[in-house]
Amino acid sequence: MLKLGLFDTVMLQYNKAANVMEIDLEIRKILCKPMNEIVVNFPVLMDNGRLQVFTGYRVQHNNVLGPFKGGLRYHPNVDIDEVRALAVWMTWKCAIAGLPYGGAKGGIQIDPAKYSQHELERITRRFTYALGDNIGPDYDIPAPDMNTNPQIMAWVLDTYLSTVPPQHRLRSIHVVTGKPVEAGGSVGRNKATGQGIVYTIESWARVNKFNLDGATYILQGFGNVGSWTAKILKTLGAKMVAVEDASGALVNENGINPDELAKYVSNSKFIKGFGDGKPADHKAFLSTKADIFIPAAMENQITAETAPWLNVKLVAEGANGPTDPDGDRVLQKRGLEVIPDVLCNSGGVIVSYFEWLQNKRSESWDLEEVDTKLKKRIEAAFDSVQETGKKYKTDSRTAAYIVALSRLAFVYKKRGIFP
Ligand code: NAD
Repeated sequence: MLKLGLFDTVMLQYNKAANVMEIDLEIRKILCKPMNEIVVNFPVLMDNGRLQVFTGYRVQHNNVLGPFKGGLRYHPNVDIDEVRALAVWMTWKCAIAGLPYGGAKGGIQIDPAKYSQHELERITRRFTYALGDNIGPDYDIPAPDMNTNPQIMAWVLDTYLSTVPPQHRLRSIHVVTGKPVEAGGSVGRNKATGQGIVYTIESWARVNKFNLDGATYILQGFGNVGSWTAKILKTLGAKMVAVEDASGALVNENGINPDELAKYVSNSKFIKGFGDGKPADHKAFLSTKADIFIPAAMENQITAETAPWLNVKLVAEGANGPTDPDGDRVLQKRGLEVIPDVLCNSGGVIVSYFEWLQNKRSESWDLEEVDTKLKKRIEAAFDSVQETGKKYKTDSRTAAYIVALSRLAFVYKKRGIFP
């Protein structure tokens, strides 16, 4: 059987929604292609004195709602197909959240664990320099994604600012979001994706009259998104009964303490060896009985093969693209509910928007203000996806796409096509 690329997955989801809502055929043609695709090959001096050439990508899918916005990913699987798919998802995500942004994504095909901090800094700076004017504070604004973090965003910022005239520097710090707070970042940005996931789970619980106090969940990925989701769910009384990362899985029906695990991972990088749980294989992890499964690692984790193993009521998609179209069909057939990625993990880009606004206005908001505004916006997005699902009698992913496509189609209709 021919394996689908990630962009094929996006297009299957897109065509399904476009058919259900009967989108204008002309607009359909525009949205199925990215506007710009930038590929850069750049040399970097390694610690051993030798040069290595890296390939970096930035795909800008659409900017009809505002500047391009999307993360930078450092991972061996990064290629044009993956970045293209992630860029399209960003367009939908920003539209669903009602943000004045379009969608983009970028990355470098590397395993960052193989490089020293000095090498990562030089790789990041050369990549930023190679992107040049393809990014900019009111044009295309990167942010963190897998294996990138506030430190990497600080290097992107510093390199970009070094390329603009001195008098423009201080009004250009919104060229990147997810910066360290001390370097113009927003409080609450680091936890924002996890916080947003929890707000959407709470919204789902409200609609379904489900009590999260004492609820159980399994979590894949214990990086930025996974660890924050787990730490926040603990404050609501939910119990993590299984967790998996790139080093393997741990299961404990009495619950694994996310705060302790986060302390452990901050030293050891991986969950392997943490005492509070029994090692388990991938199938045993996914089959663990719980109320909720939160994939917060890689794409294509829920497939025709793995979806039947799940023993949960709800899948809350923290990762981008964790469910492939075959997996989706199995989830629907089995009656499992899904909070789709383009809604569930949008807390990150929402607080990135808040950071961007604070930078533009020379303001700094406190955590209460950030969280209150995030909650309000993501709850509104959740409600509009719910209502749209009811109106079109369709699944939550298709409903989320319809919300996004309707907003984009409306603007295209009003503005028309140049010339
Ligand atoms: P991260 O690099 O901080 O963490 C990734 C985690 O996934 C790590 O725990 C890693 O060990 C684990 N992992 C990697 N390969 C795995 C495998 N094969 N099986 C199980 N676990 C594996 O990345 P992150 O920023 O937490 O991003 C995770 C996901 O969330 C990605 O899909 C990303 O696109 C998405 N996302 C991130 C943000 C953000 O703000 N960082 C926002 C929206 C969506």
